[in-house]
Amino acid sequence: MTQQGHVRVEDVEIRFKGKEGPVTALAPTTLDLAPETFTALIGPSGCGKSTLMNAIGGFVEPSAGRITLDGVPLDGPPEQIGVIFQQYALFPWFTALDNVRFGLKRFRLPKAEEIDRARGALEEVGLLSHADKYPQELSGGMKQRVAIARTFAFGPKVLLMDEPFGALDAQTRIVMHELLLGVWQKHRATVLFVTHDVDEALLLADDVRVMSAAPGQLIRHHALTEPRPRALGRAGSDMLAIREEIMTLLRPTQPAE
Ligand code: ADP
Ligand code: MG
Repeated sequence: MTQQGHVRVEDVEIRFKGKEGPVTALAPTTLDLAPETFTALIGPSGCGKSTLMNAIGGFVEPSAGRITLDGVPLDGPPEQIGVIFQQYALFPWFTALDNVRFGLKRFRLPKAEEIDRARGALEEVGLLSHADKYPQELSGGMKQRVAIARTFAFGPKVLLMDEPFGALDAQTRIVMHELLLGVWQKHRATVLFVTHDVDEALLLADDVRVMSAAPGQLIRHHALTEPRPRALGRAGSDMLAIREEIMTLLRPTQPAE
């Protein structure tokens, strides 16, 4: 079967019950994630990025509108969707290998095959030599690599990443960007990547979607065709101009005196 992973968000609005009545976390939003593309979602804190992502992951039910995966309306968390959060979400009592194996459990593979696949996934992220380490013995970057291995090992159609590298230092982030792009280009999956770092969005994505301040709405779309690996200041590139434009959009407006 060919891999699809076409996500459609149609007029989705999300409200939560607040202390003083309902709070709109996401204003009506329509978004199309074409199969196997990489979309970055950027916007100010609290604008609803995680809420939109959680809705696509099937963890939050839209108050209005609908979300489909390959034409089928979502009804709870779909198995074909992988999720990676900023917090590493590894089981502390499992080794790196067993954390990756956990992601494969539902396939009920023969044990030897399950281990082989998990080891292969760890090798792809450069961590095979750390297979028997526990999360607390790994650096933040290594933990995220295990999370990436765990997700790609099961072959998701869609990968949702919510500020996955937000807790990492600048140097480690650069390494993780290369690693993620490498693994993604090999396996393909439709990626939605939330960040509040404009440069990260521009370096990684095919499509950059900008959200307004709360209640969030998509206000700008830039399609990026620059070949990867990218560098923001490359001659002839319009990425710096796009960067300026997005930075201006995201700059908080000064409250009136
Ligand atoms: P972002 O990820 O862009 O920082 P969120 O999607 O986390 O923003 O939150 C958007 C808004 O929705 C915020 O005002 C937040 O407080 C509110 N919100 C998020 N989840 C809930 C919830 N489960 N209950 C009530 N309010 C929520
Ligand atoms: Mg968030």
